Amino acid sequence: MNFVDKCSECERISGEYEAATMNWFRLQSQLTITEYSLDEEASDRIVAELSEMARRRQDLRTSAQKHFEDTHPKSISARS
Ligand SMILES: [Zn+2]
Repeated sequence: MNFVDKCSECERISGEYEAATMNWFRLQSQLTITEYSLDEEASDRIVAELSEMARRRQDLRTSAQKHFEDTHPKSISARS
């Protein structure tokens, strides 16, 4: 995503997106470990958290898109 400098909303969305992405990677590596240990309950829980995190990233992308259209329409046309 192409965030605008010095915009607090861009900063907020990009920060949350980054956190969700880091969480996603952390859960992925936990899942690998859990699959080796054949702990089905734990791996089900992590799979559920992964899809929650994927949904969260999708939501943030949608928020970013909407925020760009409302607040930075110039930065969209400049990119396309
Ligand atoms: Zn912004």
